[in-house]
Parts: sequence; C-alpha cells; structure tokens
Amino acid sequence: MSDTPLNEGWFTEVWSPEGSAFSLEVTAKLHEEQSEFQKIEIFETRHWGRLMVLDGCYMVTDRDNFLYHEMMTHPALFTHPDPKKVLVIGGGDCGTLREVLKHPNVEQAWQVEIDERVTRVSEEYFPALCESNGDPRASLLFEDGIAWIKNCEPGDLDVIIVDSTDPVGPAAGLFNREFFGHCLRALGEDGLLVQQSESPLFHTETLIKEMYREMRAAGFKSLQTLPFPQPIYPSGWWSCTMASQGLDVTGFREADAGAKAFETLYYNAGVHKGALALPEFMKGLAE
Ligand code: SAM
Repeated sequence: MSDTPLNEGWFTEVWSPEGSAFSLEVTAKLHEEQSEFQKIEIFETRHWGRLMVLDGCYMVTDRDNFLYHEMMTHPALFTHPDPKKVLVIGGGDCGTLREVLKHPNVEQAWQVEIDERVTRVSEEYFPALCESNGDPRASLLFEDGIAWIKNCEPGDLDVIIVDSTDPVGPAAGLFNREFFGHCLRALGEDGLLVQQSESPLFHTETLIKEMYREMRAAGFKSLQTLPFPQPIYPSGWWSCTMASQGLDVTGFREADAGAKAFETLYYNAGVHKGALALPEFMKGLAE
C-alpha cells in the first residue's frame, strides 16, 4: 500500500497502514513502463545507486539489495544437506538467482518470474544482479509460479525460494495453504521452502502467524523465521521464513557455512546463527 509522490528530488514510499514512509534522494528517472502486470520504474539516486520500484513499492537498490538476496538464499542452502535443484519463484531482478548459483553443489536452478519485463529491465539497469544469468545451470522462465509448481513431479526439487512482491495481485496466491501444499509435494519430505515474510515489526501478528498456520496445515513441520535488516522496506526490518517436513530448519551446516568458498557482504555462519535467535515478541510463532 503506497503512494509515489516525487517531491523536490525525493522519492517516497508511503506505508499507509502503519503511518510511516521512507524517502530516497533521486537525481533522475531512467525508465518507466506499465507492463502487463505492474508499473516498473527505475531511478538514479544520489547515494544508493539505482533504485527499482514496482507499483510504487521499493524493490531493490544497488546499495542494500545484498542484505535481502543473501538472507533469502544462504540460510536455506546451508540448512539443506545437499541442495542440487533449486527453484526461485519471482525474483525477477535476478539477485537471488545469482546468490543461489554461488553454491557449487547446485546443479540446476530455475527462476520462474511472471513478468519478463522485470528481468529485461534489470538486465539493462542492474547488470551486476544479472551477471550469472548465462550460467549453464540456470533456466529463466517467464510464467506464473503458482501454475508452474503444480506441474512439478513429487520430490523434483530440493529448495524452493519464494522471492515475491507483497501478497497482493499476482503474488497473493503465493501465501496460502494450497500453494504451500504444491510446494511440499514438489519438495518431498527432505526439501526446504523459504518464503519472504515481510516485516517482523509490522506483520508478525498478521501475515507471519497466518503463514505459519497455512504452512502447518499444508504439512510442513519445522518452521523458522529469520529477521534481517533491509533499510528500504517498510520498517527497515524484514524476514524470511523457512519450512520443511523432514528437515530441522533450526539447525544448519555451520562448518560448511564457516568455510564457504564464495564471497558475501552480509551472510556468514555467525550471522546465520544470530538470525535464528528470535526476539521475545516472535517466540510464540513456534507454538
Ligand atoms: N525483493 C523484493 C521484495 O520483497 O519487495 C521482491 C523482488 S522480485 C522483483 C518480486 C517479483 O515477484 C516481481 O518481479 C513479480 O513480478 C514477481 N511475482 C509476483 N507474483 C508472481 C507469481 N505468481 N509468479 C511468479 N512471479 C511472481
């Protein structure tokens, strides 16, 4: 829920339900289009590099996207014992896919994004996020992730990462029991689902609790939310939620994470361990 006033060189995303807003100083609008699914805007900012906005909501900036992309990916891939087949639903800016492909044990990665224009615009304005798109292990598909997952064979996938927009419009169906049931079937008992789960401050009592209910109803047994900072999203604090039927998602391959053979800017084994420690007000999620 947002307005997009552009006042005297500042772009503001207003988060009406909580009476808050976040602004960035912009120096130019580089691109604007209405795709079949959403309005896509790209700005140059004074201090945050480029900014992508979808339907008035901040998606990524050059400066802080590493926080979100790394936390959506590495905790999940270091929790699964041997992730070989990974699906990203959404994630059209390709930053999550790039992080997935840093893992040498990943053999195949699919990105199923409903809006091809988001990826094409990202290729032009966020080339660093798209630098792994040509990796032979990667397949970029432009379809509805909800329909795609229904056609997977049981046990086809090791990890599913749902890197979606807020749960409205085409992303609304990515947060319910039916969708989670299809994910569980595609993952089998020892697969792992990770879903972006919005702000711990704004959404624990609403979206996150409801998501836990829906995931449990679909058959997921071990659930864990990991909070992390994300300055450009409402409240500046965001989260992902991991779920599995057979794996314990409250533990991870700590030694492997500690010895990871690729670079990150935020994620490391200590950060992962810290993110597993939930604040008091979120502890009720486990009950
Ligand atoms: N980091 C972002 C955030 O949390 O605000 C998400 C970025 S990514 C650009 C989100 C993508 O999800 C969008 O490009 C959107 O088109 C895509 N998306 C939304 N619903 C989808 C669906 N049902 N299937 C596949 N992709 C979907």
